[in-house]
Amino acid sequence: MKKTYQGSCHCGSVRFEADIDLNSGRRRCNCWICARQRVSETLVKPEDFRLLTGETELGDYQFGTGGGHHLFCRTCGAATFGRGVVDATGVEYVSIAAACLDNSNLALMPRLVTSAPLGTAR
Ligand SMILES: [Zn+2]
Repeated sequence: MKKTYQGSCHCGSVRFEADIDLNSGRRRCNCWICARQRVSETLVKPEDFRLLTGETELGDYQFGTGGGHHLFCRTCGAATFGRGVVDATGVEYVSIAAACLDNSNLALMPRLVTSAPLGTAR
């Protein structure tokens, strides 16, 4: 069941909320940048994500086909979420760094052993 969670970067410039079903699990993206930052993320549809503050504070790092926007706070550097489109399917998604959710207990959030296909974002 989806619930609304809020999240933020370290300095508080970037704040967001999203409707997430934490039981859907989190995944480890295996792209170059996420693997090196050890990002554990949960995926939501764009309509389930609301950026509350910080749009102008966001830096945007892209590589490869440019399908993924790896966003980060220009002040503190925290990568709280990203946006993208799956090249093969055209499905849009927002990937949220699970550790950036306020009051989140990652121990209660199932971790997927393998990367979930992005086309299954819900
Ligand atoms: Zn920040």
